[in-house]
Amino acid sequence: MPVYTYRCESCGVQFERQQSFQDSPLTRCPECGKKSLRKVIGPVGIVFKGSGFYATDHRSPSGATSRAPKGEARGGGSNGETSND
Ligand SMILES: [Zn+2]
Repeated sequence: MPVYTYRCESCGVQFERQQSFQDSPLTRCPECGKKSLRKVIGPVGIVFKGSGFYATDHRSPSGATSRAPKGEARGGGSNGETSND
């Protein structure tokens, strides 16, 4: 059974309740007794710390350009060296 997180907008209490899909969502707060419960969707209180969040195409310092991205025109030769032959 999924666990739903509820939060009361009246008193601010937050709790988890294991419910089946057939159960109707809770509305009444067990703390203050007001019908101000909201179902919290998604993970609560998770901070995304960047590990494995890097782009994979960092260039290696060994100077091996294995895969040049398409469209990267580097120095077409219009302003090259003056090798006038
Ligand atoms: Zn409450």
